[in-house]
Amino acid sequence: MRMNYLVLVNKNFKIPDDYDISNHLVKIQNHYDKDHYYLIEENTYKMFEELRSDLLKNDNIRIELTSAYRSIERQQDIWNQFLELYGEEYNKTHVAVPGYSEHHTGLCLDIGVVINDELIDDIKLYDYDDINRVIISKLSKYGFILRYPEGKEDKTGYKYETWHFRYLNDVEIAQYIMDHNLCLEEYLEERCD
Ligand SMILES: [Zn+2]
Repeated sequence: MRMNYLVLVNKNFKIPDDYDISNHLVKIQNHYDKDHYYLIEENTYKMFEELRSDLLKNDNIRIELTSAYRSIERQQDIWNQFLELYGEEYNKTHVAVPGYSEHHTGLCLDIGVVINDELIDDIKLYDYDDINRVIISKLSKYGFILRYPEGKEDKTGYKYETWHFRYLNDVEIAQYIMDHNLCLEEYLEERCD
């Protein structure tokens, strides 16, 4: 498969049937919690490590992976688990339908920030605006974008997530998207015009 770093997966666009990332995934160990391993596309990981070192060295901010690649089967398990616990209405708004999660691409990741040896992740990160701002300002330099920016819920289908980054393997495109405060959906629409 030829890599398509601009593949669009969201609530309306399913991961393409012929999308096969398996030969490009690397398995890596979590620095923070050594019992956890992640699968992630090789270049995405390489650039994540560069972003991580930059933040650690220059800003004294320690970021760690909390989620990366997820198979459709894994997403199905999560779906079933939450369905049993909370019911269908909850799932519709909180859990990605198997096949429609960007995490199937291997090109995105969720981060947490380690502060005083504690891992701050998910919605807890909303309390750390200054730190989020520094991290987000460095994303495009390494080919990443903030995938679910504030105020783009109607386009992305997701509320603002400070922790979910998408790798595009193209610094210029990433910079363009971040500088113009676009989401990936808007950028791809522009390209088609
Ligand atoms: Zn995510």
